[in-house]
Formats: sequence, structure tokens, C-alpha cells
Amino acid sequence: MSLPPPSRPNAWQPIRSILEDIPGEYLTPLLAALARKPLEEWTQRDADNATRLFQGSLRETVENLGWDPDLLPTPQPTTASSPPHMPNGEQRTELPTIGISLLSPTSVTIRFAEPPADPDETRRILTRINANRDLNKIWTIEIRKEHIEDLRTLVKDNKLSVTPEAVAALKEAWNSSPAPAARPAPPAPPAAPAPLFPTPAPAQIPAVTVPPVERTNGRVSFTERGQILVKAAPTKPLVDALTRLSGLRWNDHMAGWLAPQSRLADIAAISETFGLTLEKEVEQALHDRTKPFVFNGTLEGLREIPLTALASVDAKKAERFADFGVENIFDALMLIPRRYIDRSSTQRIIDLVPGTDAAFIGKIDRINADAHRRMVRFDITDGSAKISLTYFNALWQAKRFRIGDQVIISGKVDEWVGETRRALQMANPMMDPLTQETLPIIPIYPQSDKSRVTTWDIHQAVKEILSRIGTIIDPLPPFIKERYNFMDRHDAIRIMHTPDTVQQTEDARTRLAFDELLCLQSALLMSKYGVESEQGIQHSLDNGMTEQFINNLPWPLTGAQDRVWWEVRNGLTASHPMHRLLQGDVGSGKTLVALLTLLSAVESDHQAALMAPTEILATQLYNELVERTEGILTPYGEALKIVLVTNKLRGKARQAVLDGLADGSINVAVGTHALIVGDVNFRSLSAVVIDEQHRFGVEQRAALRAKGPEGIRPDMLVMTATPIPRTAAMTVFGDLDVSVIDEMPPGRTPIKTSWIDKAPDLDGMFGEPWDTIRREVDKGHQAYVVCPLVEESEKMQAANATETCEELREGALYGLRLGLVHGQQKPEERGEIMNQFRNGDLDVLVATTVIEVGVNVPNSTIITILDCGRFGIAQLHQLRGRVGRGRAESECILVGRCTSQDSRSRMEALCASTDGFYLSEVDLELRGHGSLFGTAQSGVSDLKVADLNTDKKLLDVARRAAEEALALDPNYANSPELKQEIIAMLGESAEAWLGKS
Ligand code: ADP
Repeated sequence: MSLPPPSRPNAWQPIRSILEDIPGEYLTPLLAALARKPLEEWTQRDADNATRLFQGSLRETVENLGWDPDLLPTPQPTTASSPPHMPNGEQRTELPTIGISLLSPTSVTIRFAEPPADPDETRRILTRINANRDLNKIWTIEIRKEHIEDLRTLVKDNKLSVTPEAVAALKEAWNSSPAPAARPAPPAPPAAPAPLFPTPAPAQIPAVTVPPVERTNGRVSFTERGQILVKAAPTKPLVDALTRLSGLRWNDHMAGWLAPQSRLADIAAISETFGLTLEKEVEQALHDRTKPFVFNGTLEGLREIPLTALASVDAKKAERFADFGVENIFDALMLIPRRYIDRSSTQRIIDLVPGTDAAFIGKIDRINADAHRRMVRFDITDGSAKISLTYFNALWQAKRFRIGDQVIISGKVDEWVGETRRALQMANPMMDPLTQETLPIIPIYPQSDKSRVTTWDIHQAVKEILSRIGTIIDPLPPFIKERYNFMDRHDAIRIMHTPDTVQQTEDARTRLAFDELLCLQSALLMSKYGVESEQGIQHSLDNGMTEQFINNLPWPLTGAQDRVWWEVRNGLTASHPMHRLLQGDVGSGKTLVALLTLLSAVESDHQAALMAPTEILATQLYNELVERTEGILTPYGEALKIVLVTNKLRGKARQAVLDGLADGSINVAVGTHALIVGDVNFRSLSAVVIDEQHRFGVEQRAALRAKGPEGIRPDMLVMTATPIPRTAAMTVFGDLDVSVIDEMPPGRTPIKTSWIDKAPDLDGMFGEPWDTIRREVDKGHQAYVVCPLVEESEKMQAANATETCEELREGALYGLRLGLVHGQQKPEERGEIMNQFRNGDLDVLVATTVIEVGVNVPNSTIITILDCGRFGIAQLHQLRGRVGRGRAESECILVGRCTSQDSRSRMEALCASTDGFYLSEVDLELRGHGSLFGTAQSGVSDLKVADLNTDKKLLDVARRAAEEALALDPNYANSPELKQEIIAMLGESAEAWLGKS
């Protein structure tokens, strides 16, 4: 039993053990009394008194606590020979080892031998009569007339002794007036007279005048429309059992109960219990629908069996499952329970704490469906307290249940607080029937209200699948399984859905998540090894060019630049092709490594190309290369020939460049997409650098690479200025070698970031961020103003930026020299304005996101981003990277109202940190892995079990295991099933993988 978490843990601790020994009958009102005073309001005295609780008499203690002792039930003295199980300790007597004894005037306890004679049947009965089990495996049962027949069966089957007090109490109950009907039942069918009940009362449940018997006459057949028809004498136990099945209806015309075919298995079970006869075609259908599937043991084989092959899933339900993304039995098996509920330790309603997630078992006391407001309310009790559940827009929920049903509920507990009382409640929790077949550990699946697939539907389908599939093959190379101590795949699947203990489930999930990650990592590595096995160019860097370049720099390389250059250098000088991702935060100095890579090609008597996504960026990189290589000569003693190739290059000038590239007289081409046009050819392209690689498609990168010598793959360095979380780098870019510059050049002053949570005022000349901009301009510095993001079109974006610029010119930034850049300008026009800004002829550059990357004007010390809530973290971080490039202190001011919690979190993260890697992790957390660029082709979205947020370590293990396995068996020739799974998992995208550049 668990108690509400105490506000002062120690206050509760001493009494917990005492409380656990108290029979439920007494504990309930006591706890109810305790609960009346919120724990926070406990004084030391309360705690002390509680500690003494039950050391004196119950009544005394309760009086000590200042509570009303009348809340307690009055224990009824019973015969001296066997006093009941009293709470005051001294009078307790030994219970019979196995048997029934009186617990209170209204309840008995049952203790079974372990295991009971017929465990299944026993469990069925215990569930039926709402028995509660305590920690000592003693069952408590309310003495009710309708339970007595079941108790008799238990006594008979298990050879239980019954104490005389219990016998007396049961007898008394038996002779009392007829029990009220537990739940409404269908009318007794006039066409099938009930011989056991001489005077059947139509339209209500027959009065119990003689003990009901279990066997009854009846037949089960199919109707013409394929429904199941049950015709039988309506004995109470049968009616009871049948009405528990959802989807079952009484049909006057047929004079029997009708059920959909999906209920076949349940009805067959009931038929067996009650001795109903199954007609031949029913027998046959039952046989057909329970026989094992023919399948080859692979996951692919599971995918081939549609969900409709299951007896528990009819066409309608299959549609709902399909809505939910589950089409075959593989999909169903890969639905991972969100949590598990251990039936032996569920919470009691009285212990539920508002605001927390809870799982508990209770009984439906009342169902109130309000069709008008499309709302259903259930009252649930478990003997300890009551809770009400409300479902909105889900009238169908009312049809699933009947009063008296035992249900299992999980969800968030709320509290309704009125003036004089409080009540527990839940909105739209998960609720499912608890049936005889319910396992001791109940898996709770993610369910969808929209497609109306309940955890129970999934549970049933999965259970049927497991009983019909035979063994699933384990494709894992045995040495991997042993080395990392993984359980067998079949066991993992079974345990995940039908665990014996909750502890096992994590190991099972780990195994299945590992399989997915192993497939992913294997595919990536195979692709990587594929590239490496191609013919590459072995650069030789002993002509001193790269060395001279480094020596010419005004400062030494940072430690990170040095390390990364060493890694890249090794790749360049190796005989197989290099395929490397270079990542580093904005301003970390990636450009130098890129330029060094270009020079390496020239140093080895080859050519190099650098492709950037925008002209601004390409021009800037071109300028930097030209500047930094001044005075450096080629191995032939010639000046370096570097060209800029953009769409601006036309006519004769272009032809000259084409000729120079083709005959090898031009050493390096820096450019935009214009580089990959068909007639651009190189004599000997050996190194390719792609900046901002994610702005290019697979084909574009491949097109540039294809301009190398016939049959030889140039070395390739792809760069990204957007730091990528490690898990993403290992999945999205797992087929590349990765180098990371994780250190900033020295002397940077960190950028101060602030956020003004209101709409910017473009007219007013005072106030922030305009005051700060003016102040900085007065100091001789420059500023950027980034215009709001307009999603609709580039054109709208440009129009909006133009308008913003005009307003600022006339309003907030009146008197300053403003320039405007946006994506709709002609490249020349934009280049001209950029030049003016770079030369200091403009104070403020009003811009769209065209300045996001690459723009490097160290004199700019302030950037303000308007309507910041519309930008993502990565983009804001990139934009912020435009400042802080010089020695002066820089500032970023984000302006804009953020209404969503997500956008507020984004702004807060940016204000708190300038570390791009940290921000990328925050971004990932806020947006989820599905949002990573390029993930559609990455296979990350195929992960059903693994979760990259929580399985980071497992991802490392999978990478290592894939390396080990592929080292022994490079093509998985000895693990054909594994290979098949890799292809199946990545599907069509496998090709994209394998061809990804
Ligand atoms: P990234 O491309 O990673 O955003 P850049 O290569 O543009 O960064 O470098 C940012 C700034 O740092 C540039 O102005 C560059 O000249 C300067 N820088 C690069 N490496 C160093 C270094 N080792 N020491 C000092 N400054 C450096």
C-alpha cells in the first residue's frame, strides 16, 4: 500500500509499517480522516500522534488526533473461539493456512495455497467478485449474496477450510432479501424460456431464488450477416459474463445476443465455461482464427501479415488501427507501452495526489452521458474513496462500459476545489476494462482518441499475435549478443508486451531499440566504407604552401583549428577518398580549415572548388582566400589563380574561366550553384568544399564531386555553421567522418543578449533597441536590424523589409545612414550595399535573413532582430553571430512578443547561452528529432522503439557493435536477416543513404 507523499517524509515513515499491517476495512476510514486534514497543515503533534497510532486502541488514537471517532466503523464482536482480525494487535489470531475467515461483519479474507488449484479459474472468479489482494497475498472480499456461489466454487476447488464465523455470516447473507442487480441486463428472451427460473420476469434480471448453476443450455451460431448469435437460457452468471463483453447486444428479433466476429474468442471462452454448444461453422472459424500464422520468423515476414488476419481485429477496427499508423502485425508489435501498471501494487484512490500521474484499479459506480454537451462522466470507487472521470467529445466511451465494471485507469489526477469540499477528478484519462485475462502487469500503450484505438485494443491484438506467430528469429550475430549481454529478440518482444515483472521490461525495450540503432548504424557505416573503398586522390603536402599560409596568418591557429586541420590533412593525404563533416559554432574559424583544404589541392598539383549557397557568402570567401594567399606561389612558382564563379559571370569572361578550369591554369574556383552547370569542367579537381552543406541537395553536392577525374572521387569537406547535436551527427551524418571545432578564437567578448517582450515601435525615436543602436553608432560602430520573417514568399519578405527600412529611416533611426539588403535585389545591387556597409559608409544595415551566414563585418557591434518569436533557435543564433567578430563588446537585442511557451523558451535559451552546441540540444528538445533537417531521408524517422533523446548511450553501443560486426563480416553476408532488415527499415531511403554525398 502506498500513502500520499508526505510533505515531511520523516513524519510518515514510522507509521508506514504499522499502517501496512492494518486490514483495509479499518484503514480506509482512518486514511479518509487523515486526508481531511491536508498533510501540509500537519503539526508536530499530528505527526507524533500518528506515530503512536494503533499502539493504543483505534478509537483512543483517533480521539487523540482530534478527529471524530464516529467516522470509524464499529467492530462487531464475534464468537470468542475465533476472534476476527482486529486492528489493535493483541487480539489477532492465526488465520488458517488456507481458508476463509471473517474479517469484518461485511467481509471475509481468503488465503490460498500457492499456487491455487486452478490458477486461471481462481483468478477469473476473484476478479469477478472484486477481490482485493494485500501484500501478504490475502484476498479480501465483500460478503454479498451474489458472491456466495463463487465462494463455494473456490472452497470446493481449493479445498479451503471456512471458519464458523465466516460460515455464519455467509449464511446470513444468503438468507437475506434478494440482492439488487449489479448492473442492467438485457431482457430475458421470451423465445428461450429459462427452465431454471420458473417465473422469468421480462425486462429485468430474474430474481435469484435458487443457487445459479454454471452449466446452461445454449447454442452459438453465425447469423447470415456473419455476426455471432448466442442463444441460451439467461442464467445470472451467463448474463453477467456476456454483458461484460463490449460490442454485445441483445436482439429481440433474434431472441439472442449478437456480437461482432472480433468477439469470437471471448464468446468461445464463455461457451466453454457454461457448456454452450458451438455450431460447426463457429468451431471452424474459431479454429481458423487461432491457428498459427505461416511466417518465416523475420520482421519482414511479420510485415506481410495484415492486421485483419487477427481474430481480435475486424475490418472496422483495422481501419482505426490504420489511422493510427498500424497496418500489419509488425507495426502492432512495435507499439511500445508507455508504462506498465503492476496490479499487485496499484494505488488506491484515496492515495492519489492531485497534479501527479497515477494508475489505479476501481469499479464503475455511475455513468452519466450528456449527449447534448458530448460529455461522459464516470464515478469510480475502490472502497477507499471516489474519483470522477470526465471525457469530452467521447460519447463512445459510455458505450464501452457498464456500471459495476472493474477498470484500470491511468492519467493525471486533478482536484476540484469547492467552497466546502474537494473532490478528485481526471479529464480524459486512459480507462480500460479489467477482465479475467488481464495480466498481473498491465502494459499501457500510447493510444489515440482520434482514431479510437485504445490500449486495450492494442493489448488484445498483441496477445493474439504472440500466441499465433511461433518463434521470431534473432538476426544478431551471436558474439554481439553475448558481448553486450542482450536478451533474445523473441523474448524481448514477448516481455515487452506481457512482462512477468516490470523490471524486465527495460531490458526488453533496450534490446529492441538496439536492433533499430544497429540497423541504422550499419547502413551508415556500409555507406561510409563504400565511399572509402573507391579510388581516391592521395594529396602530398610537402611543397610548403599550406605551411606558408598558416605562417602568414596574423595569429596562430587555435588548438581546435590545429587539431581539426590535422584530421583533415590526414584525410587528404590518405589514398581513399575523404568524406568529412566540419562543424563548429559561428565564428569558431572554420573558414581557415576550408581554405587550407583548397590550398592542399593546389599544393599537390590539382584543382579545388568551394561552393557556397549565396553570392554574398561566395564573394566573401573568395575575397578572404585571395587576401590570405597573397604572396603564396604554386609548386611551379606561379601566382595562384583563383576565380569567383557566380551567375554574374557571363560572356567572354565566363568562357575564359571555363577554359582555365578545363586546362588546369586556374587553381581554385569559389562560387555558387553556377559551379555545377554542365559546361563547367576541371582538368583535375581533387578537393571539394561545400559550405552550409544543408542548403544543397544530394544531387547538387554529387554534381560538383562528379567534376573530378574520371573514376576517381575527389576529397570532400562539407561544412555546417549550425552546430548539430551529437546524436544527430551520429545519425543524420553517421556516414561521414566528423571534425568539430569546439573552441573560439581568443579575445572575443561574449555577446550580451537580451529580449524585449513587446512589439517593436518603429516610429518612436526613443526607447530600446533604438537607443542602444544610436549609442553604438555614436561610438563609430555599426548595426544590423533584421526584419520580421514573412513566410508567404520571398517577394512579401522583400516588400516587408523595404517597408520596415522606410519606417525606420523616417522614424526610429531618423538621421542615421541606412542600407537595405534582401533576397529580391539584383546581386549587383546587393553587393554594392554590402560593400558600402563593409567600408563603413552605412551605419545600419536593415536586412532579411540573407545575412544569416558568412557576413563578416567586425565593426558591427549590435544586431537587433524584430519579431524574434518567428525565428528558430538555430537561425537566431546564426544571425547573432554577425556581431561579436571584433574586439569591441557586442550586443544582440531580440524584440517581439512571444505568446507560445516554446517561443518563450527559445528566447530564454538564447539569452542564457551563446554556445551553439548547447543551443542545438535545447532546440532538439523543444522540437524533437523529427525536425532535424534532412531527417526524412535519414532513417531517424523510422525509429519506432529507440528514442534519441534517451538512448544516447545505446546509440554509441550500436555504433561500436556495427563497427565490430562489419569488421568481421563486411557485407553482413553471414547475417542475411540483419541485412534484409537494414534494407527494409530504410526502405526507399536506403538508396538515398547509400548515394548520399
Ligand atoms: P566561422 O566560419 O566558423 O563562422 P570564421 O572562419 O569566419 O568563423 O572566423 C571568425 C573570425 O575569427 C574571423 O574574423 C577570423 O578571421 C577570425 N579567426 C579565425 N581563426 C582565428 C584564430 N586562430 N585566431 C584569431 N582569430 C581567428
